[in-house]
Amino acid sequence: MLRFKSLGSGSSGNATLVQARDGTTLTHVLVDCGLGVRELARRLGEAGLLPDQVDALFITHEHGDHIGSARSLALRQRIPVWMSAGTYAAIGEPDFEGLLRLARDGDAIGIGDLQLHPFTVPHDAREPLQLHCTDGATRLGILTDLGHVTPHVLSKLAGCRSLLLECNHDSDMLANGPYPHFLKRRIASDWGHLANRVAGETAARLQATGLREVVAAHLSKTNNHPSLARLALAGAMGCEPGDIAVADAVTGTPWRDA
Ligand SMILES: [Zn+2]
Ligand SMILES: [Zn+2]
Repeated sequence: MLRFKSLGSGSSGNATLVQARDGTTLTHVLVDCGLGVRELARRLGEAGLLPDQVDALFITHEHGDHIGSARSLALRQRIPVWMSAGTYAAIGEPDFEGLLRLARDGDAIGIGDLQLHPFTVPHDAREPLQLHCTDGATRLGILTDLGHVTPHVLSKLAGCRSLLLECNHDSDMLANGPYPHFLKRRIASDWGHLANRVAGETAARLQATGLREVVAAHLSKTNNHPSLARLALAGAMGCEPGDIAVADAVTGTPWRDA
């Protein structure tokens, strides 16, 4: 059985727990670790976990809202950390005391009863990876921090039943909002972040390959509103806005079956 729980999502910090259960055996992978050590421990506690129950970390890219306290947590709890060689280079190649594992587009990673399948995405980081996870029966996609959706991304997410999907901004709110011009351009660029409308189109395309549940994630506080993300996804997927969950910046989501 595959479950997941966002521990928080957005520019203030991202972390998502993925859990596989096989009989009495549990496997937990923490995807991104963009919180302080203490706050992360608190949110893991709310999820029913102690930090030493995390079997592996997977870091998507070097931005602070994703890498956060990954190294401290890994060293303190002796947890292996997966990231791309580019991400490792971008953080200055610190010593991970033998816990670093390099991830690559196309190379599957086995951790207990979970398999992770990383793939590259266009984003203004050195070598960003997003991923899908499976327990062998169900597939969950995690897709945040990308400027546009490539055929590669779509092919890697085909067959996912659930998807945590970036709905960063409403294009009109971004264009008319308070951000300086250069930042607006960066966010809206092909190497920035995904707009609600594009997220909706993406979800609709993946519906044809089996996608059933979408959780909107990485919403901008300034340039988006949960109701707009829900409307965009529901409109594109042909469901009710109330059927779309939104990962909160601080409370994330409850545990959900993938
Ligand atoms: Zn981010
Ligand atoms: Zn980023």
